[in-house]
Formats: sequence, C-alpha cells, structure tokens
Amino acid sequence: MKTFSVVITDEIHQTLLDHLIREDEQEDLCFATYVPSNGDNRNTGILSQLILPEEDERNVHGNVGFMPNYFERVLKIACERKEGIAFLHSHPSSGWQGMSEDDIIAETRLSPSVMAATGFPLLGLTLGTDGAWSGRFWIKDDREKRKYNRNWCETVRVIGKKLSITYNDYLLQPSFDKAKQLRTISAWGNKTQEDLSRLKIGIVGLGSVGSIVAEILARTGISNFTLIDFDSVEEKNLDRLTNIFKDDIGRAKVLAVADGIRRSATAPKVKINCCEYSICEKQGFETALDCDILFSCVDRPWPRQVLNFISYAHLIPVIDGGILVRTNKKNTSIIGAEWKAQTVGYKRACLECLGQYKTENAALEISGKLDDPEYIKGLDKSKFLDAHENVFPFSSHLASMEVLQMLTLLLLLRALMM
Ligand SMILES: [Zn+2]
Repeated sequence: MKTFSVVITDEIHQTLLDHLIREDEQEDLCFATYVPSNGDNRNTGILSQLILPEEDERNVHGNVGFMPNYFERVLKIACERKEGIAFLHSHPSSGWQGMSEDDIIAETRLSPSVMAATGFPLLGLTLGTDGAWSGRFWIKDDREKRKYNRNWCETVRVIGKKLSITYNDYLLQPSFDKAKQLRTISAWGNKTQEDLSRLKIGIVGLGSVGSIVAEILARTGISNFTLIDFDSVEEKNLDRLTNIFKDDIGRAKVLAVADGIRRSATAPKVKINCCEYSICEKQGFETALDCDILFSCVDRPWPRQVLNFISYAHLIPVIDGGILVRTNKKNTSIIGAEWKAQTVGYKRACLECLGQYKTENAALEISGKLDDPEYIKGLDKSKFLDAHENVFPFSSHLASMEVLQMLTLLLLLRALMM
C-alpha cells in the first residue's frame, strides 16, 4: 500500500497563509502546481508554482468558488511546466482538516480534467487557521471508469529553518509509552513526543556514527526507521559499531542494527525498513524518499553528492557530519581531531559549499577509480575519503551532535545551535 505526503517550502506556505487566511474570516481558494517525488513506498507532492487568482477569477462571497477562466489559466501553466495541479482552500477552524460535502463535490469534479490534462492526480489541500494543512490525492480507479479515489496524505510537511509537520491522526497515530519516556516527556512535553514518535527517520550508512545515531533515536522514542546500507559486518568493525557483536560478522549491517533498535526502543511499536542497497542505487535512492529526515553517515563523496541532491530537489533535510583526525607524518601518533555536524537542504548551505565533498571526487568514485588500488596508490587518500582513523569517543560525540541537529530542526532549540 502506497502512502502519501506533501511538502511545502516556508516561503510558499507564508504566501498561502497571507492569501487564504482572510481578515474577514471568509474561506478562500487558489491553485498551485506540484512536482511528484515518488519514493519506494510513499508518493509526495512538492508544491512548486503558486497561481493566485486575479480579480475576476473567483468569488469569495457566500460559498467561495472560482471562474472557468481561472481554471483554464491554471491548466495552461501546469501543462507548460509539465507539473501536477493542487487545489487549495481554507477552513475557519484549526488542525488537520476534513472535507465538507461541497469540498468533495468540487474536488471530484476537478479530478478527471486535471488527470487528463497533466497526467498527474489532483492534489487537494486544506489550510486551518493555525497554519496546519491537510492533503489528499485523487487517484483514478483502475477498475471503474471515471471513478477517482481519495487517498489521504499521512503528513503535510513545511520546510524552512524549522521542519513543521501536520499529521493525519487517523493514518499515523502517535506511539509512545509514558512510563518508559517519563524523563524525556518531562523535558519537552507530550505534543513533542507524539510528533517525534511518528517521524520517518532514514539513516544512510551504518558505520560507527550511523549505528550510534540509531541507538540514540531508539531511546528517544523514534518508532519509524529506514536503514540504508549495502555493507556487511566485518571483524574490524567491532570496535566501533554499537549493538553489533561477534555473532553478527557476515550479516548485513542493516539487519544487525535493526536488532539493536528493537532491543533499545522505548516506543511500543517500532517499524524498521531495512534496505540493503547503496543510496547511489535506484532502490536505495527511492527508499530514502520515503523519509522525513535523513542522517548522512557515509564517508564517500558519491553518496554525499546524492544526499545533497535529495535535500534540495526533494526537500528532505539531511543531517551530515564528519570527523577529521590529524596524525603525525609517519601516522604513528595523533595530533588532534575535529568533528562537525550540520543540517543541509532548503535555505541552507550545501554539502559541497561546506567542504564535505567535491564534485570531481564524486565523479572519480562514479568512474570506479576510487576503488582501483593502482589508481589511488601513492595518492593522499584523505583528499577523497573521510579518515578511517576513527575511534569510538569521536564517533559517539558526533552521533550525539547529529541528533541534536535534528532536535534543533524540529524544535528550533536555540541553546542547541552549534
Ligand atoms: Zn472546505
């Protein structure tokens, strides 16, 4: 079963608030285009171009309605952009909004012409007075002619400096155990814990940092995990992988870390999607698009480039970190170590600007040369890859900093800003 979601930038969201929430408390409407972002399990609409009505294109008195010339203009713009159409209106109450009889009639009528003209299902969105959104896609029924089924979204996400998510309580119920989370809830309250427990978190790369990020999130009450890593456990990993033991040697890292999450989880119901692919492969890439937030715990330029792309093109914030260990020339003793964590994506500096990877090194990796022992012989490997001189105290601190980045993104905790 596919699930559905919508993502809106805070800039578009702000313009929509100004247009749809009227001082005279009348409901209002408008159209926009959207770009589909289809994951392995979730289809998301990314709002793209707002098309606000002109004077003669809609009537706001009594029951709000639009004129045929407005819809024709919208169809034309959507077709030119090769994008889908979203129909948006406001309600005079707060929270996730349902639909009135009139709403259902209006969206059912629009669905066939939108599908026929654009090839994408109509996206209906409703805005509450508190800025909460609800959304649904009207998808053509395979069996019945001219029938369109309403598929409610699980979430509508607004991304800016903060990630704000309106949840559909019917499709995504909060799942936390008050007794086990007593001290956590006393820190940030029930509402925050409810929202955290429904977040879809992806961890890409389950090495020293990724496995600890998983452990911290499990104890924090996260219940929906996506783990992406193609690699298996080797003996040399045992000094740095959390929740991975001798018996796990030879097993896929995603499966071994999933066992650890199940043991440590404080949420009553935990869902873990294990993806044994690289983020650079289609399967890994599409699985990442199912997530609300991604942790980049990889140490190579190509996966970093892919994650960087996802954060902007698909509006999924990516939390990345790196450790730099400096040793003496002979590589026999340590001089110092630095580590940093950052969130990248919409309205933020990108991973390449931050010096976390170079396009030419990603190209080198794609060509296979980074794995060619002849090619990299004699080259300074630290120019291409993160240092492998990585010890547990550094990676555990970095993992903790990455989770703090996530809390900062969700709660705008200023004290945590680093
Ligand atoms: Zn309505």
